[in-house]
Amino acid sequence: MPPLPTLKVNEIFFSLEGEGLRQGEPTIFVRLSGCNLRCPFCDTKYAWEDGQPMPISAILSKIVGISRLFPTNWVSLTGGEPLLQDLRPLIRALRKGGFRIQVETNGTRHLNFRADWLSVSPKPPAYRVTADCRRQVKEVKLIVTRSLKFKILEKVRQDFPAKVPILLQPESNQDWSYRKAWRFFRQAVKMNLNNVRLSCQLHKIYGLK
Ligand code: SF4
Repeated sequence: MPPLPTLKVNEIFFSLEGEGLRQGEPTIFVRLSGCNLRCPFCDTKYAWEDGQPMPISAILSKIVGISRLFPTNWVSLTGGEPLLQDLRPLIRALRKGGFRIQVETNGTRHLNFRADWLSVSPKPPAYRVTADCRRQVKEVKLIVTRSLKFKILEKVRQDFPAKVPILLQPESNQDWSYRKAWRFFRQAVKMNLNNVRLSCQLHKIYGLK
């Protein structure tokens, strides 16, 4: 008998979606282990290595258990970088269970399934996003780091269709980053850069994961 498919999982928990256009919606998170990047500003460094292999059936039962306590049909696959692992067996199981699937990715890997909501956060130094991710993306989150230059915002804006919002997300809700995001936002509006918006990490304001 072939081995049961497993995924290396860091944690599974209920919270609110703190970022992007789904901000504030109840969501069950599956944080996958591992990342192909090492961003110095990463706020989930613990997910780079830590985690346990879990059979898909065990992941699904945990999600179903949480959804009985907190009824929601949104499941967010996050990381680390979730697209480093083959998510298709989990996607199939979630769809059968009636869940809707959000994927949060840095956009550097191929996407071989359909997500209901694809959130892409391009990362330095290249801010490169694969064509599959660009096709499905619903929102782009750009972290306002100390090194982010306005010309990167202009490049990222050009890389995506105008209907996809570029959300300026302050780095870990730090004051200097809010101020920089506001400066970039005003400049973007003055220059008539399409669909650039201000954002924040709501879960951190609430002191949640
Ligand atoms: S891509 Fe995301 S998870 Fe990976 S190191 Fe960068 S911020 Fe952290």
